[in-house]
Amino acid sequence: VKQITFAARPTGLPDASIFRIDEVPLPDPKEGELQLKGMFYSVDPYMRGRMNEGESYVPPFQVNNALEGGVVAEVTASRDPKFQPGDVVHGPYLPWRTEMTVPASAVQKVDASLAPPSYYLGVLGMTGLTAYIGLMDIGKPKAGETVVVSGAAGAVGSVVGQIAKHLGCRAVGIAGSEEKVKLLTEYFGFDAAINYNEPGLDDRLSTSCPNGVDIYFDNVGGEVSDAVMRQLNFFARVPLCGQISYYNATEVPTGPRWQGFMVTRSILMQGFIIRNYASRFREGIEFLAPLVKAGKIKSEETVAEGFEKLPEALLGLFSGKNKGKMIVKA
Ligand code: NDP
Repeated sequence: VKQITFAARPTGLPDASIFRIDEVPLPDPKEGELQLKGMFYSVDPYMRGRMNEGESYVPPFQVNNALEGGVVAEVTASRDPKFQPGDVVHGPYLPWRTEMTVPASAVQKVDASLAPPSYYLGVLGMTGLTAYIGLMDIGKPKAGETVVVSGAAGAVGSVVGQIAKHLGCRAVGIAGSEEKVKLLTEYFGFDAAINYNEPGLDDRLSTSCPNGVDIYFDNVGGEVSDAVMRQLNFFARVPLCGQISYYNATEVPTGPRWQGFMVTRSILMQGFIIRNYASRFREGIEFLAPLVKAGKIKSEETVAEGFEKLPEALLGLFSGKNKGKMIVKA
């Protein structure tokens, strides 16, 4: 079977040379194991962090081993009574192989009657739950408030804005192209959207947020976030979700010193890691699934066809190639 191998640790922005496609054997499943055929593979910005050496909240990828991530797969052989061939399962940390033998404890069945299987990598999976937990627990939105989200046309951001709208907030999205800005207002139903690659971000933000900003859901960090921070209201909340604008930086950039402003405005800023909220995933899916089914939360996917497209799809996240969730279909 084919495997995408992590060939070398990158410095700065990675390119295709850090990946290798290898042929590896497929062991027969032992007691308690399953054999799986990959259907959909997730690529996620956090994988860039795992390419660096050193401990983070997930261990680093090992050079010459398979990369790994969220996969939706079909069970082809089972030596665990809870699973049958034909079941569709999801695992958050499965190897990037076309077929794989894994412990049954590494996966969970997905409910294909609720939504198409690929949604368990996106709106009903890690990214949708990240949007839900970050916005509800840290953002604590109230109807009538203004919610600004960066990385708004991506997997997490598009769901944040749509939940905010559903709760009666004003949703303002920031994204990197005119096409994405149109998608945000015309398809996802944001009240306003801003292209951060055009000049005048501060002015366009204040026009789009006439009552200031009550919640800033931060997916990107850097200058985009500096601009939003300057417009936060008293008692604003800032869920810190990610900082993709410097995941490839070789030095940590030093930004403006707005902590004093946070003091005077009594602003709450809190980071979170979704995998620490596993006990809340059921609640999140129960909130999201009916809204998705009713078309009130739309799921957009950018799908690359073919297992070999995994490296290109992953790298594409860092140049904004995706609208909604980026996935690879085997
Ligand atoms: P996205 O689907 O949003 O894809 C990444 C997007 O980031 C791109 O489409 C691009 O959109 C934008 N981007 C890339 N480079 C830059 C840059 N230099 N400045 C600003 N924007 C940039 O990914 P996800 O929704 O999966 O993740 C969004 C964020 O949430 C990431 O920071 C990720 O690490 C974080 N995250 C955190 C989790 C947690 O537990 N805390 C869990 C899941 C995700 P554009 O064209 O608009 O630039």
